[in-house]
Amino acid sequence: MISRIDLRGEALPEGSALRDLLPRAEFDVEAALEKVRPICEDVRHHGAAAVIDYGEKFDGVRVPSLRVPAEELTRALDELDPAVRAALEESVRRARLVHREQRRTTHTTQVVPGGTVTEKWIPVERVGLYVPGGRSVYPSSVVMNVVPAQEAGVEGVAVASPPQREFGGLPHPTILAACALLGVDEVYAAGGAQAIAMFAYGTEARGDEPGCAPVNLVTGPGNIYVAAAKRLLKGRIGIDAEAGPTEIAILADSTADPVHVAADLISQAEHDPMAASVLVTDSEELAEATEAELKTQVAASKHVDDRIVPALAGRQSAVVLVRDLADGLKVVDAYGAEHLEVQTADAAAVADRVRNAGAIFVGPWAPVSLGDYCAGSNHVLPTGGCACHSSGLSVQSFLRGVHIVDYTRDALADVAHHVVTLAEAEDLPAHGAAIKARFEWKVPQR
Ligand code: NAD
Repeated sequence: MISRIDLRGEALPEGSALRDLLPRAEFDVEAALEKVRPICEDVRHHGAAAVIDYGEKFDGVRVPSLRVPAEELTRALDELDPAVRAALEESVRRARLVHREQRRTTHTTQVVPGGTVTEKWIPVERVGLYVPGGRSVYPSSVVMNVVPAQEAGVEGVAVASPPQREFGGLPHPTILAACALLGVDEVYAAGGAQAIAMFAYGTEARGDEPGCAPVNLVTGPGNIYVAAAKRLLKGRIGIDAEAGPTEIAILADSTADPVHVAADLISQAEHDPMAASVLVTDSEELAEATEAELKTQVAASKHVDDRIVPALAGRQSAVVLVRDLADGLKVVDAYGAEHLEVQTADAAAVADRVRNAGAIFVGPWAPVSLGDYCAGSNHVLPTGGCACHSSGLSVQSFLRGVHIVDYTRDALADVAHHVVTLAEAEDLPAHGAAIKARFEWKVPQR
């Protein structure tokens, strides 16, 4: 069911040579760019009509309106199962605790007497938050997008999620209920690349239905078409990291429980046939016990044939055998998993040595499922190795740091000769002239 990669033979190669030995999903965003380019162009030129047409084509339902009416949001919350409401409220409460502490404070540095640089953090004005809804629906992604945006102080928050045929073209009712719970009233029944393009270009009002004003920033996870549209439109809009098909890597030694390890590998495989589940271990006994346990647990799972088996059997998943924990750490750093569990002796100390991962889950009582819903951490995390250069969604994702430079005459005079020298070294004399003009063309020498 899951392949093995044995790296115990020789010294591990470094860098990209090691990465090439590791499993990775075929997630060719570059190829998908050619598919989403015409979709984005259509939305640019034909607005809401194009978004609705593509919804009919890809989601199988023609929506009566893109904007979800306010009464549908209220109704969804009123009709939400009380247990689901309580769980969502707890998820929101914990996420707020963590994200509130990520707020940045304005900070002023006195560079010289009379010369200060203040770094001020200003929220993005308007954001478009994407909540996936193809194979699964993710009300948890509403929480993970909206809470950091709100804690950052963003004023304009719009959510888009694919229209669902069985709900008359509305996004899934649990998604609508989560939006209502969080006080978000601007929700669109739009999915895939057309939703990202709608956010980037905006759409016009149609009759009584208001249009979607363009946003400054789009965040949220999604499939390859969502990732490709974000990459294509980056620049016109800001984007968070590309958060594609989910990944779990587990670094485990002989102290790990194979029942837990197998359950956690399956838990992410059930997202998507392209999801990746990777076990990295120095214990052949654990590898064998986990492989046996996978067979038992998969047989008792849901979503077996359409997601779990293709995900576990795909080239993106594997059991990787290493000589020791030090090599295991090299492997997980080279892989840069979206989610990394450390199930070893002294797990906190081992986790502390990890450099590349979207989020790290320490020890046997912090499974990824906890992080997906209720740890307080964010579950919108970089995939495909992007964890080596990008972070998960946070309050920081929704803020811009602006430097405010304030110098007195004396403070400028004090450094003027250095500025002029550097301007001349760059052959940009007008830069120097802008300084000289302030001192009657005589640069003060200090
Ligand atoms: P989705 O909402 O991302 O995509 C559905 C949309 O794709 C549809 O609305 C449709 O418009 C579009 N689409 C479908 N087929 C198309 C085609 N042939 N051409 C163009 N567009 C097409 O939902 P999904 O497909 O279920 O994907 C969600 C993904 O998000 C999963 O891979 C899941 O693992 C991932 N995810 C990641 C994170 C994270 O933080 N990394 C979190 C949650 C979910």
